[in-house]
Amino acid sequence: MNFNQLWVLAPFSIVILIIVYLEIMLIYIFINPEGKEIIQVVLHHLLLLAVIFSFYKTSTTKPGTPKQTDTENDSLTNQRKTCKFCYNTKPIRCHHCRQCNKCILRMDHHCPWVNNCIGQDNYKYFFCLVFYATLTSVVYFTIYFNKILKNPPTGSVDTYFIIFAATLSFTLMIVLFLFLAFHTKLISNNQTTLEYFEKQREHYDKDLVSNFNEFLGPGCWLIPI
Ligand SMILES: [Zn+2]
Ligand SMILES: [Zn+2]
Repeated sequence: MNFNQLWVLAPFSIVILIIVYLEIMLIYIFINPEGKEIIQVVLHHLLLLAVIFSFYKTSTTKPGTPKQTDTENDSLTNQRKTCKFCYNTKPIRCHHCRQCNKCILRMDHHCPWVNNCIGQDNYKYFFCLVFYATLTSVVYFTIYFNKILKNPPTGSVDTYFIIFAATLSFTLMIVLFLFLAFHTKLISNNQTTLEYFEKQREHYDKDLVSNFNEFLGPGCWLIPI
């Protein structure tokens, strides 16, 4: 394994370390859960399973690359440029990813956290990942914050570990919420991240439900299958 391959694993390793730390603190708090706490722990772990499954689907599903048939029925084919990297005719909304060295259909962005491009075929899993990760971070923060309220810091070492877990989950919650809000806004405008930054506004915009169906599949928008 060379240095570049190790570097690719760095974001994934950071995520695993954060989850392991937050889980250890959760086990420490709920070493003997009772009543409502059991329901809280079960719900939390169902959400965490949804995060892990969405992560797996996002990183292992190919984002979609153009086939010849994608441009045959494209009335704008004659106006499209040929990709200067892989020499294929680009269908509408297709972009070349330099990290993957491929043209990606309706490319959104290349995501180092899942080590994959986000495009037409895996955007739904990516959105589910951000959605469930946001909910999970809210639950983590609520649990640690309640623990601090019930047992105000006494100066013992364990309280500082819990305060750190609360701070970490609060930061994650804010960052993920902003990211979720940004992507919800993009879907509602039928826009990709690339199109947003290239200022291609309202190019493909339809009604709200059609926009969500186009990006997340018809119905079952938040089920990552
Ligand atoms: Zn290309
Ligand atoms: Zn890529």
